[in-house]
Amino acid sequence: MSSLQGLGMMSRRTRLRMIDRLRAEGISDKRVLDVMAETPRHIFLDEAMAHRAYDDVSLPIGYGQTLSQPWVVARMTELLLSLGPRRRVLEIGTGSGYQTAILSPLVHEVISIERIQPLQKKARERHALMNLNNISYFHSDGEFGLESKAPYDAIISTAAPEQVPQSLLDQLAPSGVLVIPVGAQEQRLNLFSRRADEEVFDRIVCESVFFVPLVSGGLVHA
Ligand code: SAH
Repeated sequence: MSSLQGLGMMSRRTRLRMIDRLRAEGISDKRVLDVMAETPRHIFLDEAMAHRAYDDVSLPIGYGQTLSQPWVVARMTELLLSLGPRRRVLEIGTGSGYQTAILSPLVHEVISIERIQPLQKKARERHALMNLNNISYFHSDGEFGLESKAPYDAIISTAAPEQVPQSLLDQLAPSGVLVIPVGAQEQRLNLFSRRADEEVFDRIVCESVFFVPLVSGGLVHA
């Protein structure tokens, strides 16, 4: 695995250029920009891909999955924080662990689910290297969330279902939010928010995006 050093100094400058680009592309939440400026993105990729870490593209992480482009990570995090601070957050799709690492310092606790165990194992090692210790990991199918730990102040899915699973909405705490890409051919980011005192969900449809599909069942073991 790439170390925190090595590419480190070089990538700090590159990272600040990435932050300028994100700002130019409309990301305005300073908390998100600050965390992304400090988080080494290259350690979330295999050595052969690390040199592309700060390009504005999604990159392969193995098993047919991808690390989302920086703008998408920034935008989803910004949406998650847009309606107030969040304590307990459920993430569906740990993947490389990069989105998890961006969330970790911004919330109290992250509970992250992944169906492909080897990906989650690597993500965990990267987080340990960064001393992120408010993350818990579940190797399970996140299509219907994680009932045993509900309710959540926020749920973020980094894989796209064709339709929003009702169980994800049901697992939101009062005033909780769900950030999720939705759609088959054409996907849009969606922000759902639960009202404080009724079981009513408001929905805002945001930008077009392209995510890997949320897959039903079929766990992959190490
Ligand atoms: N947030 C990740 C993006 C990974 S891509 C990152 O920053 O790298 C989406 C991830 O969702 C993949 O790792 C995929 O295996 C996972 N995934 C897809 N369907 C899932 C499901 N039903 N349950 C849990 N994880 C799922």
